[in-house]
This record gives sequence, structure tokens and C-alpha cells, in this order.
Amino acid sequence: MATADVTVMGAGVFGLSVAYTCARKGAAVRVIDLHGVASGSSGGLVGALAPHVPENWNEKKAFQFESLIMAEAFWHDVAALSGVDVGYARSGRLQPLADARAVELAKARAGTAAELWQGKARWEVISSGDANWMPPSPTGLVAHDTLSALIHPRQATRGLADAVIALGGEVVGAGDMHGKIVWATGWPGIQEIGGKGVKGQAALLRFDAAGQPQLFADALHIIPHGDGTVAIGSTSEREFDDPFATDAALDDVLERATLAFPILHGAEVLERWAGVRPRSKSRAPVLGAHPTRDGEYIANGGFKIGFGMAPKVGEVMAALVLEGEDRIPQGFRA
Ligand SMILES: Cc1cc2nc3c(=O)[nH]c(=O)nc-3n(C[C@H](O)[C@H](O)[C@H](O)COP(=O)(O)OP(=O)(O)OC[C@H]3O[C@@H](n4cnc5c(N)ncnc54)[C@H](O)[C@@H]3O)c2cc1C
Repeated sequence: MATADVTVMGAGVFGLSVAYTCARKGAAVRVIDLHGVASGSSGGLVGALAPHVPENWNEKKAFQFESLIMAEAFWHDVAALSGVDVGYARSGRLQPLADARAVELAKARAGTAAELWQGKARWEVISSGDANWMPPSPTGLVAHDTLSALIHPRQATRGLADAVIALGGEVVGAGDMHGKIVWATGWPGIQEIGGKGVKGQAALLRFDAAGQPQLFADALHIIPHGDGTVAIGSTSEREFDDPFATDAALDDVLERATLAFPILHGAEVLERWAGVRPRSKSRAPVLGAHPTRDGEYIANGGFKIGFGMAPKVGEVMAALVLEGEDRIPQGFRA
């Protein structure tokens, strides 16, 4: 490609979603990543596409809701174009309810979800019953939602890169920047504008629960991928020496996961992984005009929900960059 209409710096899920959506709209796109596709926090294992609780609605929750609803078609198209199995499934999610107060709250959320989720997904309180794939719950009840989905992060990012290439774009390690420039450089990029990195560690177990709902128990995501593995995450570390090392904090996560869900006891650990999430000062994504690079753009700050936000991030950024149409929520501006 001699020149590009759009150059995206960073081949994580944000940069590639922007590049992919621009390419779908016919733009000539170049993605440059010094370290390669999915070499940042997008190269992980967990992949929960899980909604915020349906209450105290705000623009971030509304944006995430729209993104989660878009996700099925978005990832289906990425898989079809790239030929990569991105591991998307609208799995739903189960959460144990510890006591009467948690049950009351969950029941109230069933009502608010009916309104806020526009009939596109349900939140309900159900009996935990005696199914194998069910988190033990002291009340015998669990919260079940049908909005949560899951994806294989590393595969999904690879699939996006291949889809960009299938659409005539480039994903390269170095090259000239042409056209509109979008910075989606994750942790290094968010630090440049006053944000921080928050390290996370996760593990992958050999355990076949394909097609089952994801679980959220003791603040841990337990994600049954379609390939016969289960991902467990994550730690949340503001202070760290080695961003990519796994240590005793991950052993603790694995122990807690087994306590919360004993069926996982003894499952072989296939991989231990660590990465650094980009967290903005506001904790919300940072989208739109770049605050320090005149005339350029930024898409960063996915923090803990970058994969859930990515389809909508791609949509609003492509509209802004290609058409000058600004649909970015006020609170997401740099
Ligand atoms: C342990 C863990 C578990 C997580 N679990 C989930 C989850 O279950 N669900 C979810 O939605 N999210 C989850 N996340 C968060 C999610 O991974 C991030 O929000 C997302 O990956 C951020 O994507 P990004 O594209 O902004 O950044 P990154 O993926 O970090 O990509 C940035 C890229 O920019 C490149 N780069 C940096 N500097 C430059 C430069 N100067 N020029 C060119 N390229 C550059 C890097 O090499 C990198 O590839 C998790 C994160 C971690 C660490």
C-alpha cells in the first residue's frame, strides 16, 4: 500500500476494531505495531463480555450495552472474513447470591434490566439446582443474565488483524504514517496522557465446559471457552515490578476459583499469563481528538472491559475519522 487513508498505531483490540470498521467502510487502512498483533493486554486469556449491572444507568453503561448487543454480528463477520475462530458465544452468566440482601438486589435488577436492556436480554434469579456447571450458592439461588458473552481474546485480535488484511489493509511492524492518524497504543499511550497501567494475571485450565454459561464468583471470571479450556481471571495490581511475570498472586486466584467452584479442582493449568490494562483517569475509554497530538485521534482506556467495548469503539471512531461525525459520549473525551 503506497499511502493510507487511515493509519492506526497499535494492534490491540481497540486499534484493530477501529481499523477494521474503517476498512469495512472502504478506507485504505494501515495498522502499525512495533511489537506485533496482540502483544499488549489484548493478547490474554479471559474474554468476558460481561455487562455492568442494570441500574444507575449512565452513558458508559449505555455505550457498553449497545456494544454488547452489536458484538454477535461484529464478531461473526470478523470470523467469516478472516477464517479465524474468534471463540464468540452469547453464553450468559451465573453469579451465586450469598445472602438475603444479595437476593433482594438481584431481584430488583431483574426489573431494571427489563426496562434498560430493552427486551434484548434478561436478568433473572433462578434456583441453583443440581447441574454440574453451577456455582455453589449459600441461598440456593443465582443471578442469571442472558446479555453476557465470551470470546477468545488472543484469537479475536488475530481474527481482526486478518480481517483488516482480507479487506485490503496492512498490519505491519513499521512503516510511514499516512492520512488520519489514530493512536491506540494501550498502556504506554494512556500513560502519556496521565492514565495508568493496572496489571492483571490470569490462567487457562484444561477443562471442557464448552457451551456452558460463564461464572462470576468471588470477583473472579470463570470463562468456559469453546475449545475445551476454562480461563480464570484476574488479579488487579496497581503496583508491580515486572508487568509480564506471573507469581503467587495468580496462585491465590486459582485457589479462590477452586473454592468458589470446586469442580475445577485438579484441572491442569495450561498457561499462566500477565498483561497491563490501560486505565484512564476517569476509568472510562478515551476516544476522539488526541489531547496532545494536534489533528490526530486517540482510542484508548479499555481498562477491564476493552473487548466488550471494542465493536462500538470501532463504530464511533470510524464515523469521526472518516465522516467527521461525532457520536462520542461526552465523558469519553480526552
Ligand atoms: C488479565 C487481564 C484480563 C482481562 N480480562 C478482560 C475481560 O475478561 N474482558 C474484557 O473486555 N477485557 C479484559 N481485559 C482488558 C482488555 O484486555 C483491555 O481493555 C484491552 O486489551 C485493551 O486493548 P488496547 O487495544 O487498548 O490495548 P493493547 O491490547 O495493550 O494494545 C496496544 C498495542 O499498542 C502497541 N504499541 C504500544 N506503543 C506503540 C507505539 N508507539 N507504536 C505502535 N504500537 C504501539 C502495543 O505493542 C500493543 O500491541 C483484561 C486485561 C487483562 C490484563
